[in-house]
Amino acid sequence: MEFDYDALLEKAYSEMPEKVLKAERFELPRARRYKEGNKTVIKNFIDIADAINRDPGHLLKYLLKALGTAGVIDGRRAILQGVFDEEDINREIESYVESYVLCRECKRPDTKLIKEGRITLLKCEACGAQQSVRSM
Ligand SMILES: [Zn+2]
Repeated sequence: MEFDYDALLEKAYSEMPEKVLKAERFELPRARRYKEGNKTVIKNFIDIADAINRDPGHLLKYLLKALGTAGVIDGRRAILQGVFDEEDINREIESYVESYVLCRECKRPDTKLIKEGRITLLKCEACGAQQSVRSM
């Protein structure tokens, strides 16, 4: 008996639920920034927060701490004190996603942050796993 593996694989993919495929394709938008005097403006800050389904204030707090600066949200932008490389900003946003967005069990981004007293939990809606995350 002979199997056509390509056809089998294709069939398997076509039968996968939409949601799974969507999760596999999860892509973090890259932060775009420009300098304004001695400040750094992240143009698409709210777009990033929306894409990862997190509170922009929470993401900003993390970013400011990681970069050791101060800043505010202004419309859909974030304005940071000081001049920062796009690479550095994106690296910190990626580490935020690792810690506060992606499920550590199944690596999917379908998660929620839940506060329970002093503990913050990352609850995965895809596999049900629950992990505590560092409070900020
Ligand atoms: Zn999970």
